[in-house]
Amino acid sequence: VIKNLEHIGIAVKDLAASEALFTQLLGSAPYKREAVESEGVTTSFFLVGNVKIELLAATNANSPIAKFIEKKGEGIHHLAFEVEDIEAELINKSESGFELINQTPKDGADNKRIAFLHPKSTNGVLTEMCEEKK
Ligand code: ZN
Repeated sequence: VIKNLEHIGIAVKDLAASEALFTQLLGSAPYKREAVESEGVTTSFFLVGNVKIELLAATNANSPIAKFIEKKGEGIHHLAFEVEDIEAELINKSESGFELINQTPKDGADNKRIAFLHPKSTNGVLTEMCEEKK
C-alpha cells in the first residue's frame, strides 16, 4: 500500500548554493542536512506542506548523483513514495513486472529504509519506496 508522496529528490552540484536558492524559492530553510556515506551523497531536506524536497549532492565522483548530473545535468532525480511495508511492496512491485534496483531495503536518509525501482520500468522516472524506521 502506497501511503503518500514522501519526497522529491533533486540532484544538485553545489549543495550550499542550492540550499540558498531553494530557501528563497520555498520561503523556508532546510530542516536538516544529512550525509549518506554508502551512496556518496549529502542530502538537505525542506518541508513543503506534507511533502519534502530532498536536495542531493555528490561527495565523490563515483556517486550515483555525480553520474546522474554528468549524464542529465541538475534536476529532478527521483520520486519517493512512503509505504506501509517495504518488503511486501517490493515483492508486489516485482511480481507486477517492475524492475527492482534494490532487491532488499537499505538505510536511507531521514530515518528511512529505502529501495529503488529501475526507471526503465517506470517511464523514465526513478522511483523510491521508503518506510519510516520503527
Ligand atoms: Zn529519496
